[in-house]
Amino acid sequence: MAEKKPGGNTLADRLARLGLRTDAELILHLPLRYEDETRITAIRDAQAGVAAQFEVTVVDCELAYRPRRQLLCRVTDASGAMLLRFLNFYPNQQKVLQAGALLRVFGEPRGGFLGEEIIHPRVQVITAGTHLPDCLTPVYPTTAGLGQSTLRRLIARAFERIRIDDTLSDTLPVSLRESLGLMPIAEAIDQLHHPTPDIAQSQLESRNHPAWRRVQFDELLAQQLSLRRAYLSRRARGAPQLVATGTLTAALLHSLPFALTGAQQRAWQEIAHDLRQPYPMQRLLQGDVGSGKTIVAALAMLHAVEAGYQAALMAPTEILAEQHYRKLAAWMAPLGFEVVWLSGSMKKKDKLAAIAKVDAGTTALVVGTHALIEEDVRFARLGLAIVDEQHRFGVRQRLALKEKGAFAHQLTMSATPIPRTLAMSYYADLDVSVLDELPPGRTPVTTKLVSEARRDQVVARMHDACRAGGQAYWVCPLIEESEALQLKTAQETYERLSADLPDLHIGLVHGRLKNDEKAAVMAAFTAHEIQVLVATTVIEVGVDVPNASLMVIEHAERFGLAQLHQLRGRVGRGAAQSACILLYAQPLGETARARLKIIFENSDGFEIARLDLALRGPGEFIGARQSGLPLLRYADLEDTVLVEQARAAAEELLRDAPEQADAHLRRWLGGREELLKA
Ligand code: ADP
Ligand code: MG
Repeated sequence: MAEKKPGGNTLADRLARLGLRTDAELILHLPLRYEDETRITAIRDAQAGVAAQFEVTVVDCELAYRPRRQLLCRVTDASGAMLLRFLNFYPNQQKVLQAGALLRVFGEPRGGFLGEEIIHPRVQVITAGTHLPDCLTPVYPTTAGLGQSTLRRLIARAFERIRIDDTLSDTLPVSLRESLGLMPIAEAIDQLHHPTPDIAQSQLESRNHPAWRRVQFDELLAQQLSLRRAYLSRRARGAPQLVATGTLTAALLHSLPFALTGAQQRAWQEIAHDLRQPYPMQRLLQGDVGSGKTIVAALAMLHAVEAGYQAALMAPTEILAEQHYRKLAAWMAPLGFEVVWLSGSMKKKDKLAAIAKVDAGTTALVVGTHALIEEDVRFARLGLAIVDEQHRFGVRQRLALKEKGAFAHQLTMSATPIPRTLAMSYYADLDVSVLDELPPGRTPVTTKLVSEARRDQVVARMHDACRAGGQAYWVCPLIEESEALQLKTAQETYERLSADLPDLHIGLVHGRLKNDEKAAVMAAFTAHEIQVLVATTVIEVGVDVPNASLMVIEHAERFGLAQLHQLRGRVGRGAAQSACILLYAQPLGETARARLKIIFENSDGFEIARLDLALRGPGEFIGARQSGLPLLRYADLEDTVLVEQARAAAEELLRDAPEQADAHLRRWLGGREELLKA
């Protein structure tokens, strides 16, 4: 639910675009950087590229027309001369800059054709002896049509008003603040807007100054508070205590050809414990691709059934949902339980029949797509709702799910590894179980980087692998600009491979296929009727065909790291030695090269995520999760020490000083807190 960007061109509109509506918001709008106008530099000491202030006298000022209309103003001080060049200027500017005028000029000198010059300096006409400012000049983030001087004036006024009514009081109790070694907030904010020259500009700009630290802490605290509060309010709602006998789950475990890994056992126990509580579980089951989340989900569902409740599993795509359905149905049938399938593409009659079963409560296990949360679907007694890859659902669907499962236990599953450093703040509103161990007997996937020029060799290798009984995925390039183009490429690849390898059965699956067509192709691939599956990224998550041992990704340089890791995870699921071939086209950009190096050298999803984070910064991770989570403006989620302190402080405030917590949230999030609940 992205906030609507206000249009319009009044001052208020422009401020609103920056999110500045109240005095408090103005005051928390902190400088990007500073300019030092407290000192005068002699022209002789000017350094190219280093912004500085000069005090100069105008020698002359004239209009030039070549190469374009511009105003050239020659100036001097006791040490030398320089040229001021204006490409945009007011009609009366030439008059203002008349010979003999005394100026303070601020800007970045550079060596020009006519000697030292500054393009577009900031200029102020002064009288001799005018005082220099005694603090650094803040430069604020702004938007088109809103000048620095206007913004400075507005912020300064907000400051005065706030001082008068004392709304900048500290939301941290003194003892807590002191134990964390943080400065008072009023002092911190004051210093950041008006830093005195004794504060090193570098310390301010690298944001290491104690004043920044306090602001960063407060911002993280607001985030932690709102996430924790959402967690606590859901927890206060109450849920059925699912008390189970353990007979069905034991029977399922007994029927499996494998034993749970230690990590699966741990996660399963944590979940079973949650399900017995009188408040809803809010747990995330996080595990790399292939770590075996589905069986843990199945156990949880059976636990609910044993306790006399229904359990539902929802997946973001038809392919994924169908895979879950097949797997669950195969596990449940021997135990005598039917699994109901519900998806948007079903025939009306079948769908109504499925809905009727869910409604009557005759069926306890339901699997499907977002069709599960449509209005006409009513669960007789839903005890557990499981959502796979929740971040792939839209906000509206997530809200619908919250409503439908309001009093049910909730389990979310995700294969997107979040570095541990981030998980803490990222998931402050969830309890987390991690599957950090892959099932045994996996053969590691060999990754190869191959230039596009050697495509023929790759095709030959795939041919050999398939003739030896294997299967392969061929993933077509991501074309961000155009879905139509992406489709066309997939179609062409399919035709070309079919022509080159006439003895193989080749299938094509992409996002534009009708659901039943998609399902038919997937089923044929699973049944080994198809040897090569040409696909767009629709196979990114969840597809599980253990016999497939070769993955070719074309234009791998266009994919993100998480995506490459997910795709590669589709192979290496069976006994055969598997390979992932990353075809790339030259020339490679620097980041693309770095990404390919990371995926080539690493197989652990968490490690890849950590390196990805280092490459991209944390902003994009957040973006991938929750559109409502306010982006941090000043703090850095990788600042683990500060994040941990904020987390602990949030607990303490919510427990001991809830009204301070309220005040803190109002100051930092204003009305935006609602957005977090999506
Ligand atoms: P993911 O976490 O990616 O959803 P799945 O649940 O699809 O992983 O499991 C991947 C494969 O591993 C499946 O074929 C599953 O049956 C198998 N599997 C799961 N747990 C184990 C285990 N403990 N030992 C062996 N194989 C397992
Ligand atoms: Mg899965």
